[in-house]
Amino acid sequence: MAAAPGDARPMARRRLRITGTVQGVGFRPHLHRLARSLSLTGTAGNDDQGVWCEIQGRRADLDEFEALVSAEAPPLARVDSVRSADVPTVEGERDFSLSPSTPGSDTVTGTVPPDVAACPACLAEVADPGGRRYRYAFTCCTDCGPRYTVVRSLPYDRERTSMAGFELCEACEAEYRDPADRRHHAQAVCCADCGPELSLESVSGEPFAGDPISEAAALLREGRIVAVKGLGGYQLACRADDSAAVARMRRRKHREEKPFALLVASIAAAGELVQLDDLAERALSGPEAPIVLAPRRESAAVAAEVAPDTRLLGVMLPATPMHTLLAAETGLTLVCTSGNRSDEPIVTDDARVGTELGDIADAVLRHDRVIERRADDSVGHVVHGGFQLLRRARGYAPGTVRLDRDGPVVLAVGAELKSTVCLALGADAHLSVHLGDLEHPAALGAFETAVADMLELTRATPELLVHDLHPEYLSTKFAASADLAPRLGVQHHHAHLASCLTDAGFRGPAIGVMFDGMGWGTDGTLWGGEILVGDAGGYERFAHLRPVPMPGGTAAIRQPWRMAMAHLHEAFGPDVPAMPSLAAHEEHISAVLDQCRPGQSILTTSIGRLFDSMAALCGVALAATYEGQAAIRFEQVAGPDVRRYPVEISGGTPAVIEFSPLVEAVVSDLLTGQPPELIAGAFHRWVSDAAVAASRQARESTGISAVALSGGVFQNRRLTELLVPDLEQAGFEILRHRQVPPNDGGIALGQAAVGRATLANRG
Ligand SMILES: [Zn+2]
Ligand SMILES: [Zn+2]
Repeated sequence: MAAAPGDARPMARRRLRITGTVQGVGFRPHLHRLARSLSLTGTAGNDDQGVWCEIQGRRADLDEFEALVSAEAPPLARVDSVRSADVPTVEGERDFSLSPSTPGSDTVTGTVPPDVAACPACLAEVADPGGRRYRYAFTCCTDCGPRYTVVRSLPYDRERTSMAGFELCEACEAEYRDPADRRHHAQAVCCADCGPELSLESVSGEPFAGDPISEAAALLREGRIVAVKGLGGYQLACRADDSAAVARMRRRKHREEKPFALLVASIAAAGELVQLDDLAERALSGPEAPIVLAPRRESAAVAAEVAPDTRLLGVMLPATPMHTLLAAETGLTLVCTSGNRSDEPIVTDDARVGTELGDIADAVLRHDRVIERRADDSVGHVVHGGFQLLRRARGYAPGTVRLDRDGPVVLAVGAELKSTVCLALGADAHLSVHLGDLEHPAALGAFETAVADMLELTRATPELLVHDLHPEYLSTKFAASADLAPRLGVQHHHAHLASCLTDAGFRGPAIGVMFDGMGWGTDGTLWGGEILVGDAGGYERFAHLRPVPMPGGTAAIRQPWRMAMAHLHEAFGPDVPAMPSLAAHEEHISAVLDQCRPGQSILTTSIGRLFDSMAALCGVALAATYEGQAAIRFEQVAGPDVRRYPVEISGGTPAVIEFSPLVEAVVSDLLTGQPPELIAGAFHRWVSDAAVAASRQARESTGISAVALSGGVFQNRRLTELLVPDLEQAGFEILRHRQVPPNDGGIALGQAAVGRATLANRG
């Protein structure tokens, strides 16, 4: 490999530092192949900052190596920077070798790679009866397999993962050492002789005889519920076409109506359940293997109990060979949902399966590899030409979001629902996985662990701790009591705006259409129908929906009919029209109207609550068992928008979007017998029209023509698909979420961006 003796061409040596997602993605083997192909000698290794290497050879070859480092990077890698410097040549070096990793004590900027779904080459081996990995559930290689969920600490090497206890057999060791092998330096490599083992047990721990996969498949076919130890936590599975099994799962899980996800063996099987376009197929079969929501086919053999509220089904492909084997062996569509009770964090600890899932599952398919880090399945859908995440977890997290520049370390603790935390470090925003709703005590524990974990993994010390303004959020209370850094409270919708701008890589300023459930405002009301103008550094509240009382406070969230009374009261005064859909609550109406009088209830400008209200008026949802349920149902009901309701914006600072003309028109339609489909369709159109009208006014007044769309309401596909083309037609540049969800799962990223900008402005 080295220049032949007597070769007179001048030799040089260079040291390269490569940062980005470069560990656990086959990067060092890539460097090895590259060096060999160019006849370079040298060495490469992982450290806390990423990957480094030294190469020696002819200058032209060194240049080419440097160019190809990122140009031909492995598919899962993301190279953020390559820096190089000349160093003295080394005498007598004969080849290119890989060095052991060197954990240091400085801040870690290298990132933990996300888990990767089984690759086609590995699945082919699992299906090959002649191969040594036939039916082996933990088959993986440099291109696929567990990463984040098995990492104990960085740098990412086997000895610092939960694979450390599994000593490589001779055959696996040979693959691991062979630079030409697909498993060269694959940290989780193993086989049936040396790797983790599956077992099937009763919930009390007695083993079942026979092959665990075959026996589990048999139980599933019989209609039983099996707890399955997945990558980032336990899941619960049962056959999806069996109403009784699905209903039993709901009852035992205490999950009344929230949709369950489905596991299918292949894209073809998914296509029989839901309508998939190219983008949806690509997302489904990507290395992240998320749950993809798509319109259900009439013919889908899936029990109604799987998703009672919606015409969408959430489907996913197997993320591991174990799931592939299970799906193939049952030959069924399986419900595959988080192994938890209600909305608590999913169970990861083997010792807790009995107590947490014992009265839900009939059997447990487990293995002896420890889940080091919890990660739910991710969820997303295709909206107006792009795949949008709704829950960012396994496969995506903890992948970083690029920031536009370097800056101080800022820790952001997010909001309350769909909690995530974010650490701005260098030019990266490190985002935690989805942690759940902090109102559950167990989720609060997961949240505190995530904060500690993020600081420990990166060994970073934050200069600023950013939190929401809501005084009752447990994340706010955590920030107040944690003695981590000086604190900064950031308004909820300002964080949404900054999140969207950061996500879209747009510095701003922009007009922010922030349509949301609710967030604490700066005036003691709950905001959520906001047109903001600004950037991460600051904002102006340009317009908002007219405030309305929330009769009974949070009770109005679970009982949308209360919000309907509030909007009726605002539009008609105390003599509200008698609406047939609200007749069931007749006896409470005067008490609720009382709560609508000035000073009796907290005020809100939320568009989400207006959705609830409309759903209740139309008789689509009078109560809600989970957040956003009424709005989800209302979106599903919406027919073609053949009618337009009047949009009225009152001048002033801020301007006010009036809903009374809308409510009057809806009441008139209802009382003349118009169907909910028509009203729901027209209401979605009204929300879109109101956003366009307010954005136009903001543009006229500020000259800004970029519009950012964020907030939980933008999970609504119908609204996005009406609004985006209309804004485009009106000449706006549109900024949408791509890497983080538009809901509160994206808040922490925005908070971190505001924190950075605030520190920068302070100089
Ligand atoms: Zn593979
Ligand atoms: Zn082995």
